[in-house]
Amino acid sequence: MNRYTLPALRLLSGGEFRSGEEIARRLGVTRASVSNALKDLGEAGLKVFKVRGRGYRLAEPVAWLDRDQVLSALGPKARLFDLAVLDETESTNTLLMAEAGHGAASGRVIVAEAQTHGRGRLGRPWHSGLGGALTFSLLWRFDQGVGFLSGLSLAVGVALTRALEAQGVTGVALKWPNDVLHDGKKLAGILIELQADMLGPSVAVIGVGLNVKLAKPVRSRIDQAATDLSSAGAGRWDRNTLLAALLLALAEAMQEFAATGFNGFRKEWESRHAYQGKRVRLELPDGGSVEGVVKGASAEGALVLAVGGAERKFLSGEISLRAAR
Ligand code: ATP
Repeated sequence: MNRYTLPALRLLSGGEFRSGEEIARRLGVTRASVSNALKDLGEAGLKVFKVRGRGYRLAEPVAWLDRDQVLSALGPKARLFDLAVLDETESTNTLLMAEAGHGAASGRVIVAEAQTHGRGRLGRPWHSGLGGALTFSLLWRFDQGVGFLSGLSLAVGVALTRALEAQGVTGVALKWPNDVLHDGKKLAGILIELQADMLGPSVAVIGVGLNVKLAKPVRSRIDQAATDLSSAGAGRWDRNTLLAALLLALAEAMQEFAATGFNGFRKEWESRHAYQGKRVRLELPDGGSVEGVVKGASAEGALVLAVGGAERKFLSGEISLRAAR
């Protein structure tokens, strides 16, 4: 992928053939540059046919991200957001954290067609293919300090689930602390990063990676069971309207969170937790693990586990939950 790849792909969105000459003319580059821009996209999950005498065509049409379309789907609420749509960036969270440091306001959103270093928690990679994912970050400022924001990733999970359900996707569930599952497989991931003093106001950068249609080469890079919206719900997904729906649900949830903290989401989160009442194993930062039955979440978003007759709370960004063997 190079800097002409997305501009050239946008000209192919409809799935019809376009000649290299036309693409070159429209982009103001040479035909060799077009050829370079559109080659070897298989790893990014995109098939581009090149047929002598006819030009280039996408194997399947793609609705590329489009700022105007997202804004129009947001309707009057578009004023809540300051949206940037990028072709490629290192990581939308990395970029937005930098903007947060320069005073970006609540509602700033960065969405990118491609991330060169998409991240999960603890520096784990987040993989996505061209045209088949939503990877975006939303900035939100809170009057409260960072301590108040524990449990935010769980509330974000609730917001995403609400939005997906409203779009007709059934069977979406959450996994403590930051995963969205469908059919037990990972459909979306959440990465929250914070900036603040302990007591003063704080800012959260809420990163979301959602699989819309996972192409095989992308799926093969993911080292756990993953799924996508195309498998979870009928029909084709328009990522622009979907992004608008997710942003509206997130903004509403952030306003709710500012008023109630995680406690206001607790019951709903428990009802949506895939492991509620189930036996799980927690992998701890020191390499150890603990097994118990999930009782629910505490008001701060800690996982409450019944371990050998006693209730224990676990609250850490470095704990991973797995089904008990
Ligand atoms: P935890 O259970 O602790 O949240 P996790 O393995 O889900 O652990 P995260 O940091 O939440 O870790 O997410 C990163 C992980 O998600 C990667 O290590 C990879 O296993 C998985 N992953 C990466 N890209 C995708 C994707 N597009 N869809 C589903 N899963 C992915």
